[in-house]
Amino acid sequence: MLKNEKAVVVFSGGQDSTTCLFWGKERFAEVETVTFDYGQRHKLEIECAAQIAKEQGVKQTVLDMSLLNQLAPNALTRSDIEIAEGDGLPTTFVDGRNLLFLSFAAVLAKGAGAKHLITGVCETDFSGYPDCRDSFIKSLNVTLNLAMDYPFVIHTPLMWLDKSETWELADQMNALEYVRDHTLTCYNGIKGDGCGECPACKLRKAGLDNYMLRRNRVSEGGRLV
Ligand SMILES: [Zn+2]
Repeated sequence: MLKNEKAVVVFSGGQDSTTCLFWGKERFAEVETVTFDYGQRHKLEIECAAQIAKEQGVKQTVLDMSLLNQLAPNALTRSDIEIAEGDGLPTTFVDGRNLLFLSFAAVLAKGAGAKHLITGVCETDFSGYPDCRDSFIKSLNVTLNLAMDYPFVIHTPLMWLDKSETWELADQMNALEYVRDHTLTCYNGIKGDGCGECPACKLRKAGLDNYMLRRNRVSEGGRLV
C-alpha cells in the first residue's frame, strides 16, 4: 500500500497498540514505535512494550512523560489511589493525555522522517476520553500540519471497531495468538489473559469470547457476521 513510506506507532504494549503495530507493518516500508513512560503503576508495561518491539524488529523510543504526575495525580500513576468504576470518567483519566502523546509523537516522527502516525484510539469502546474521538483526531491532524508545516497523516485503524472486531483484525493479520500472549492490558500487571478481574481484563475477555464465538460459527459453515 504505502510501501515506500515510514510510520510511527504510539505504542504501549497493550492489545490495541500491538494490533496497530502489525497493521502498520503490513502497510509501510518502515515502522518504529514511541512509548510514553508516565510512571505507570507497573514498569512491566514498559518492559512488555520493549520486548514486543524487539521481537517484531522495530525501533522503540521511550519518552519520559512523568510530568503528567504533576499535572493530574490519578489512579494509573499513583499507587495509593484505587481504580474505581463509577459514574462519568474513569479515575484513570488524565486530561488531554492523548493530545500530549500524539503531539510528542508527531515531533518525533518528523525528526525521524515519518509523516504517518498510527494510534489505537477508538470511539466504540468510548470510555469518556474526548481526545480519543474521531473529530478530535481530525482536528489535531490539521493542527499538527499547521504547527509544523509538515504533511502528517494520523491513522486510527481501530476507531470504529469494538474489542471483538479488534481481535478479528489481529486474526486477519495472523497475529491473534501473538497479541493474546504477549500484550499487557491488565491493571494488575499480568501479561496475556491477565488477572481476569479488573475492568481491562473483563473488556478484553468479553471481546475475545465474542470473536471466538463468531469465528467458530464460521468454521461450522456460516459466515462471519
Ligand atoms: Zn486484570
